[in-house]
Amino acid sequence: MVGNRAVAYMGPGKVEIQDTDYPTLELRDGPGVNPANVGRKTPHGVILKCVATNICGSDQHMVRGRTTAPEGLVLGHEITGEVVEKGPDVEFIQVGDVCSVPFNISCGRCRNCKEGRTGICLNVNPDRPGSAYGYVDMGGWIGGQAQYVMVPYADWNLLKFPDRDQAMEKILDLAMLSDIFPTGYHGCVTAGVTTGSTVYIAGAGPVGLAAATSAFLLGAAVVIIGDLNEERLAKARSFGCETVNISEGEPQDQIEQILGVPEVDCAVDAVGFEARGHGREADVERPATVLNSLMTIARAGGAIGIPGLYVTGDPGAQDEAAKEGSLSLRLGLGWAKSHAFYTGQCPVMRYNRQLMMAILHDRVSIAKNVDATPIPLERAPQGYAEFDQGAARKYVLDPHGLISSPR
Ligand code: NAD
Ligand code: ZN
Ligand code: ZN
Repeated sequence: MVGNRAVAYMGPGKVEIQDTDYPTLELRDGPGVNPANVGRKTPHGVILKCVATNICGSDQHMVRGRTTAPEGLVLGHEITGEVVEKGPDVEFIQVGDVCSVPFNISCGRCRNCKEGRTGICLNVNPDRPGSAYGYVDMGGWIGGQAQYVMVPYADWNLLKFPDRDQAMEKILDLAMLSDIFPTGYHGCVTAGVTTGSTVYIAGAGPVGLAAATSAFLLGAAVVIIGDLNEERLAKARSFGCETVNISEGEPQDQIEQILGVPEVDCAVDAVGFEARGHGREADVERPATVLNSLMTIARAGGAIGIPGLYVTGDPGAQDEAAKEGSLSLRLGLGWAKSHAFYTGQCPVMRYNRQLMMAILHDRVSIAKNVDATPIPLERAPQGYAEFDQGAARKYVLDPHGLISSPR
C-alpha cells in the first residue's frame, strides 16, 4: 500500500517529517481534528498527489508557538497537485487533472459560499466560520505539506489548469495561486487600488511582494513597500517598487520624500499581529503598529486592506490584552478619516482563475517577484528555519521531485 510523508508541527520552533497515513475520503481523528468533524465522510472529495506545497508566514505563526496549535498537527494549506483518486460524488474533476487548491476549505452550499465569501464558509469548521488545511482552529482538515492530501468538495474547490504540460512549465508561478497571489491581490482590491493609485504596503514578505505585484497589475502609479528586512526590500525594488525601511522611523516621513505628500490613496497590511515597532522600536513587537500607522498614512476616505493575520488567542503576546487578541488601536483616527477596513481570509476562489490567466499569458511574473524556491519535502525544517530568519524567498516543497529548479 502507498504510504505518505508529511510535515508536522512538533512544538515551538520545531517541525518534523513523519510517516503518516495515506488519505482516505473520510476525516479521521488526529491532532487538531475537531471532534465534531471526526468520521466525516467526503464522497465529494479527491486525493491529490502534491506537486507543489508552499511554506507560508501563516504557518510561521504556529511554528513560532504563537497560536494554540497542538503538537503533531500536519501543516500545509498552499497546495497544487494532481488528482489520483476521486470520490463517487465528484462529477467534473477527473483523475489526472492538475489543479490549484484554494487554501480556504468551503462547501459551495452555505449562505456565505453562495455569496462568494469562501473564507467564512459555515459548514466545514464546527468551531467558527472559515477553514483551511493544516491549520489551528480550522476544523482539523489534514495539511498538504505532504506527498498526498484529501481535498473535500472537489468540484467546487479545485481550479483545474487547462493544460498539463503548460501547467508544469509554469508550476512555480501557478503554485502561488493557492494563497499569496490572490491574498495580495485581495489586499489591494479591498484597499481600492486602481489605475493611478498611490499605494503603501506594510511588509515585504511573500504576501507583501504579491500585493505589490498585484498593485502593478491593477494599474497603480506608485507602489511603496515598507519593511525592516533589507534583503526583502531589495527584492521589492527589483520589480519597480519604492521602499521604506521602517527601522529608520515612521513610514510617512519617507513616503513624503517619495511622493511629496505624507499619505497614499490605498494602504495594505501584509504584516499582521507579529508586527515590529517603527524607528527605535523596530527590534520589539508592537502588534497595533501597522494598523495605527496605516490610519495615519491612508488619505481621508481611503481604504485599508488587511490580509495580515490577527488572532483571537496569542499565548506568546507581551501583555494580557494582546493574549486575547485585543490591541490598542487608535480607531478614532480611522473614524475621523472615514476609513474602510477590510479584514479576514482572502476568498481565493474570487481571484484565482483570473490570476491564472494572467500567469498563463505572461502578464505577470509572480514566482520571480517572490523568488519561489523549490526544495525537497525532507528539507522542510531548513526551509522553515531560513524563512523564519527572514530569507527573501518563498519556499515551495516538492514532495515528488516533479519541479525542476529554475537555477
Ligand atoms: P512574513 O512573516 O514572511 O512577512 C511579514 C513581513 O513583515 C516580514 O518581512 C517582517 O520583517 C515585516 N514587518 C514586521 N513588522 C513590520 C512593520 N511594522 N512594518 C512593515 N513590515 C513589517 O509573512 P507573509 O507570508 O508575507 O504573510 C504576511 C501576513 O499575511 C501574515 O500575517 C500571514 O499570516 C498573513 N496571511 C493572510 C492571509 C489571508 O488570507 N488574509 C493569507 C496568507 C497570509
Ligand atoms: Zn498561506
Ligand atoms: Zn460554505
